[in-house]
Amino acid sequence: MTATNRDTDKGTRSASLPDGLEALRTAILTRHSFLITSHARPDGDSIGSQLAMAFALDALGKQVRIVNADPAPEHYQDFPGMDRIEIAPRVERPGIDAVIVMECSDLSRTGVSGLESQFILNIDHHAGNHMYGAVNWHDETAAACGEMVFELIEALGVELTPEIATHIYLAILTDTGSFHHSNITPRTFEICRRCVEAGVSPAVMARRVFDSNSFGKLKLIGALLDDMELADEGRLAVLRMDDQMLAATGSTHNDTEGLINLPLTAREIQAVVFFKVTETGDVRVSMRSKYDVDVRCVASEFGGGGHKNAAGFTVAGPLLAVRDAIVSRIVGAIAEGLQSRP
Ligand code: 5GP
Ligand code: MN
Repeated sequence: MTATNRDTDKGTRSASLPDGLEALRTAILTRHSFLITSHARPDGDSIGSQLAMAFALDALGKQVRIVNADPAPEHYQDFPGMDRIEIAPRVERPGIDAVIVMECSDLSRTGVSGLESQFILNIDHHAGNHMYGAVNWHDETAAACGEMVFELIEALGVELTPEIATHIYLAILTDTGSFHHSNITPRTFEICRRCVEAGVSPAVMARRVFDSNSFGKLKLIGALLDDMELADEGRLAVLRMDDQMLAATGSTHNDTEGLINLPLTAREIQAVVFFKVTETGDVRVSMRSKYDVDVRCVASEFGGGGHKNAAGFTVAGPLLAVRDAIVSRIVGAIAEGLQSRP
């Protein structure tokens, strides 16, 4: 999909819908009951996209349930409709007309089993989507899945209520790294403008999402940064965390969201890798980068995925056995990315 498909004056699409969106619109209008899901360890985009969709389906008189593998981080719990999300690793005999899967490059990313033989509507903006749905709408140019949900809701003729606008804005605010990533377009701001017009307060949203830290989280920030190592002459920051560090600072796994972005505030640092050693000994690897440093390519080499500036994967530990190989791949990505720096 190219920029020429878009009506850039208004920032939204013109009357003819792209194929995937048209098929999705028809699939939704001709069915009655839906199950919505997204990836395990949900983030702001998965929560916002799912709940905006659920409220839109309510408005169309459809039946909706939402099932996720893991609960959302604490600071999302007060957002409208959060009590509708069921947490379950498996759905027995779903008995629904279609499953809407948001933000997943393949079905196993949901962490929810029992959905394999259902009629699947796949909505995603990650590169490398496996097109596993009966209907697939994949738009890598969307800065957040929430942008796609906005367009779908508009195509369905549903009014942008304050609840829907709140979730769309939440999805965009978080998935752009609070408007830092390089996939932001005029459409992103047009959708945000429409959300603000519908009643969203950007100041309140920013405070709710970014200024809701626990004291434990502040302590954890101190411990993580104290322990931070630099590689590649200060261009790469390496963060490491395990359960002992959480216990020592009085923080929880929920407190770790967003911490990876802190080192990027240093001018010299071009990328960050965050190693989280889990209870099982596996290592969860998250990466962030600036401009053209492509950490998704690194993630896909290790079986993960994501976006150019935000990607991740999980590897078997121990950390010492995998650390150097991962760091050297990111150093390579930094060298490549810096070549095209303006
Ligand atoms: P995070 O570092 O916040 O967990 O993830 C950053 C981005 O990478 C998100 O867009 C997320 O969906 C993607 N991502 C993280 N881990 C994985 C993974 O194991 N597989 C895939 N396909 N994508 C991942
Ligand atoms: Mn996303």
